[in-house]
Amino acid sequence: MEDLVLARTEYGALDRPENAVRLRLQSPCVKIRNTDGGVEATYARLADGAPTLSTVTSDHAVLACWHRVIPLICAEAPAAQQEALTDQQKIPFLYANVLVRSWEALSKLGVAEFETPGHFWEHCKIDYPVSIGTYRFADVPTDPVVLHLTKTVLGDPTLSTREQAQTGRYLLTEITFEEMERQIRDLLGRALGPGGFDPARDIEAITVNRWSHGYAYEYMRPWDGYWPAGPLPIETSRRPIGRIAIANADAGAYAYANSAIDQATRAVRELLGTPADAPAFATFPGPPLKDIGL
Ligand SMILES: Cc1cc2nc3c(=O)[nH]c(=O)nc-3n(C[C@H](O)[C@H](O)[C@H](O)COP(=O)(O)OP(=O)(O)OC[C@H]3O[C@@H](n4cnc5c(N)ncnc54)[C@H](O)[C@@H]3O)c2cc1C
Repeated sequence: MEDLVLARTEYGALDRPENAVRLRLQSPCVKIRNTDGGVEATYARLADGAPTLSTVTSDHAVLACWHRVIPLICAEAPAAQQEALTDQQKIPFLYANVLVRSWEALSKLGVAEFETPGHFWEHCKIDYPVSIGTYRFADVPTDPVVLHLTKTVLGDPTLSTREQAQTGRYLLTEITFEEMERQIRDLLGRALGPGGFDPARDIEAITVNRWSHGYAYEYMRPWDGYWPAGPLPIETSRRPIGRIAIANADAGAYAYANSAIDQATRAVRELLGTPADAPAFATFPGPPLKDIGL
């Protein structure tokens, strides 16, 4: 970690012939199928000029892309599995990073983080105080610091949870940067003004990332009445298709990296024929109960 934190990534090093594992960027798989004793995957090469198609073969394959992509590239999935794969609907959101001249106002007010119900932005917090190797956190209030603001972008709350995510994705394409900036200045001016914060003077830079496909959808009641007892759509969606196994956080219906790791482990074990309950399988607690009691 000490070496990595400020290092620049050399992307070309990911795909060298001498590497045992090669990662080919800008090369989405467009078709995958089982063959006699193996798997054949076709991918589009987008990197250099006009796209070209290449086909590779292997003994097995793990599809670790979002679930909704799989029916589009793998025609062999049975209809019930295709429907279950399409059940996953990623949640869209906005992440803003705001570089401020100092964190004196936060220090004066004694706050590191605040919720903002009713505002365009939902949450704001000061960057984590982490020092690793030569990277040092902003440890005195006169230091510049990054504030992190978030918003989950959802459509009409009377819609189903999946429809809210889908329509939220359309909203993401309509919100202008100017509107987001105006809302940032408004929020920070009102929340931190009593501590001496002046948006015109103290905001140095803003970046916003629009995450059209952010978190994996997590089942929640009352909308997903089958949860947690099951049977769950993910149980159907993640079944191996011949020699093709399915990973991705979607396969756990849980948004975080540990879900992706668990699902990747399961997918590889399916291909190897390892019993799911064999020791050394990294187990994590399942999704937290999100029953909101309606
Ligand atoms: C903004 C943000 C912040 C997050 N913060 C946290 C956090 O703090 N902690 C945490 O635990 N989790 C966090 N998460 C969630 C975490 O990133 C995910 O759980 C994790 O990345 C899921 O990993 P995955 O391998 O399932 O899918 P992904 O990381 O989404 O990887 C899927 C990959 O498949 C590729 N792909 C898609 N289609 C194709 C195709 N046809 N051919 C080839 N490749 C394809 C995509 O390009 C992508 O690289 C965050 C997510 C977001 C969006």
